[in-house]
Amino acid sequence: MRLVRRALRHLEPYEPVEPVEVLAGRLGVPRDRIVKLDGNENPYGPSPRVLEALARADSYHIYPDPAQRAVRRALAAYTGLPEEMIVAGNGSDEIIDLLCRLFLEPDDAVIDCVPTFGMYAFSAQVCGGCVANVPRLPDQGYRVDVGAVAERVDGRTKIIFLASPNNPTGNLLSREELDALLSLGPLVVVDEAYGEFAGETFLPLVRERENLVVLRTFSKWAGLAGIRAGYGVMPPRIASLVMAIKPPYNLTVPAEVAILASLADRELLLERVRRLVAERERLFEALRGVPYLEPLPSRANFVLCRVLRGDARLLRDRLQERGIFVRYFRRPLLENFIRVSVGRPQDTDALVAALHDLGGELEHA
Ligand SMILES: *Cc1c(COP(=O)(O)O)cnc(C)c1O
Repeated sequence: MRLVRRALRHLEPYEPVEPVEVLAGRLGVPRDRIVKLDGNENPYGPSPRVLEALARADSYHIYPDPAQRAVRRALAAYTGLPEEMIVAGNGSDEIIDLLCRLFLEPDDAVIDCVPTFGMYAFSAQVCGGCVANVPRLPDQGYRVDVGAVAERVDGRTKIIFLASPNNPTGNLLSREELDALLSLGPLVVVDEAYGEFAGETFLPLVRERENLVVLRTFSKWAGLAGIRAGYGVMPPRIASLVMAIKPPYNLTVPAEVAILASLADRELLLERVRRLVAERERLFEALRGVPYLEPLPSRANFVLCRVLRGDARLLRDRLQERGIFVRYFRRPLLENFIRVSVGRPQDTDALVAALHDLGGELEHA
């Protein structure tokens, strides 16, 4: 133990969602009976063309292209930005990690606008950095407190992380807020993991700014969470440094194949995105009809709900007994909440029926 880096001896591990087999095994039900609404995954899965391409590919015994040529070219066409500004990774999580490795000296800081996605703080700490938490404003829809961020920036601040839409609150960063944050000096990383669902993006702005990075992933809109395929768009000089420090074969051959086939079938995938967005609105209205819940408007593929009466964790457990998996939160600024991913219409129906059914039980618990 004494040989381990001091900063890592007591690191809080990242809290991942559990595999569906584990969930099904615990309940003793078949896998297809599980309504999995806890990981913001895509219930429709990958495009059928991805599955065909994966079955057909004949180069799994060969190392992938360290320069990611074909993938960066396809992503350039998709984003409308040059290949020199794009780096693909083993999920966008890897790009978060690579940016921390590139920018953080020991004791440098990142700013985390909480509540938000856990990977920013996790990667910063693993890389030896400190995390300055700046609370979002719960009374204003969890908007970023730009003034408070400005006050926290000092000579050691290297990166400001923001998710837009934010996970788990579902709200967007505005252009005015982003401009104010960019003017502070540190690198601003805008994580658009749910960008396709929001239909809004800051991608074109990356060309004009020296300190803006936008992250994207195939995990949510394209249903590739298990393949691990994400990318970052950044100024060319930063991109070439990230390319230089990344593990040479970080983007696997299956990920390459799946990215290219997904982009070739984007009409179908974006049609599914539209279906999920429509289902999100139906889910939101149905959750509004549950007397003990208050859903928050969302631009992503999940809805966060304040649990007004009863305990959110107990609600999570009761739903779980019925094979329905959601996430619960009990932490500062998210004291008693559940987050529900948008599923298929039958998933919404099962969830909402269970919520109505459980109502009385929870209030008397
Ligand atoms: C799901 C999620 C990711 C994960 O991306 P991967 O490409 O699967 O690593 C990144 N950022 C946010 C905000 C997410 O919610």
